[in-house]
Amino acid sequence: MNQILKLFSLNGKVALITGAARGIGAATAQILAAAGAKVAILDLLEEAGTATARKIDPTAATARFWRLDVSDEAAVARVFGEVEAHFGRIDILVNNAGIDGENLPTHKMSLDQWERVMRINVTGTFLCTKYAIMPMETVGGGAIVNLSSMYGIASGPDVPAYHASKATVRMMAKTDAMLYATRNIRANSVHPGFIRTPMTEDAMSKLGDVEHVFAGMSKLVPMERIGTPEDIAAGILYLVSDAGRYVTGA
Ligand code: NAD
Repeated sequence: MNQILKLFSLNGKVALITGAARGIGAATAQILAAAGAKVAILDLLEEAGTATARKIDPTAATARFWRLDVSDEAAVARVFGEVEAHFGRIDILVNNAGIDGENLPTHKMSLDQWERVMRINVTGTFLCTKYAIMPMETVGGGAIVNLSSMYGIASGPDVPAYHASKATVRMMAKTDAMLYATRNIRANSVHPGFIRTPMTEDAMSKLGDVEHVFAGMSKLVPMERIGTPEDIAAGILYLVSDAGRYVTGA
């Protein structure tokens, strides 16, 4: 049994999680820290990000917040350098920061609205991966997880830029998996269904009473319940730990 639990241990590893102030990112930071990793919580939201870091480790020795806009290349380069200097290495990157954007049909969406979603969801994932590769090579390998969505596979009749962005980060993980396989850097994507987070609460509040809307949505799920951020974080732990050591491009 201990041998099996050891596969999930992240002792000695350093994980960077974008969009980790709240929602799936915060749950991921908590579970990776519980597995032994030092975690860098990267987000635009300073108050929530600092609170998430303090909840994990009030002494800030193993969890720290950095303000970061993932779509700003100079900021990504600077913050990734600071995290590497602070914690000594980079082993794990979870590209979780994302927005759903305006819920408009394609013919009503402005170029700015389209590009904003692409800049954060796609370019942000590209930039963070770009600046994580060399530090991972330095320590002999690493693991990257891109947060896609079930909509990145099947799409849906709404938020066109979001669905396109989620399909793109899925393919980026497959490309990076092949590009870096011989350097022991794995890349996978995760495809959540309906997960209750600030993002979905905000979207559901536009459709009516939030509890009522979530109750109706749960009927679309075979298990008849909406997922929790922890449900997704557990899968991410598997992918970034040695338990998932032969899983890449998946
Ligand atoms: P959320 O809105 O609750 O959290 C997203 C976090 O990303 C926020 O803290 C936000 O401040 C941060 N962020 C946004 N733009 C940023 C930027 N430019 N730089 C840095 N941080 C930024 O959302 P969530 O539901 O937890 O979603 C997390 C990820 O999971 C997203 O990529 C989302 O697309 C994906 N996802 C969510 C669901 C769901 O049902 N909740 C389903 C499928 C996929």
